[in-house]
Amino acid sequence: MAYDNNNVFAKILRGEIPCNKVYEDDHTLAFHDIAPQAPVHVLVIPKGAYLSMDDFTARAGDAEIAALFRAVSTVAKMVGVSEDGWRLLSNIGANGGQEVPHLHVHIFGGKRLGRMVP
Ligand code: IMP
Repeated sequence: MAYDNNNVFAKILRGEIPCNKVYEDDHTLAFHDIAPQAPVHVLVIPKGAYLSMDDFTARAGDAEIAALFRAVSTVAKMVGVSEDGWRLLSNIGANGGQEVPHLHVHIFGGKRLGRMVP
């Protein structure tokens, strides 16, 4: 599957639609999910055009990959979930339930989360 430049996160990255930004660096952007599934629900995305985690780890440079994961922990601290615990999730492809075809990881927190079930 080819990367679709018109996906919603590509539009956010181009500034064509707004987001509630939490964090940004050279490689990464984080913003609040528009339909939060937990008291804290933030999305962290690479600025590069990557479909999914598989595409990212295949094509991104080490600096981009390191930046994404460092940003995740930075954001978790910024939104106040680090101390009590939180969840990191990335849906990948059709079976994974990925709706937006630009790599994103979800940060969930702010309450005792239920057990993950497939
Ligand atoms: P996925 O199912 O892992 O692809 O998650 C996509 C997420 O993007 C969902 O949690 C949506 O609520 C979220 N989302 C979709 N459009 C926007 C937006 O414009 N701003 C912020 N979050 C969005």
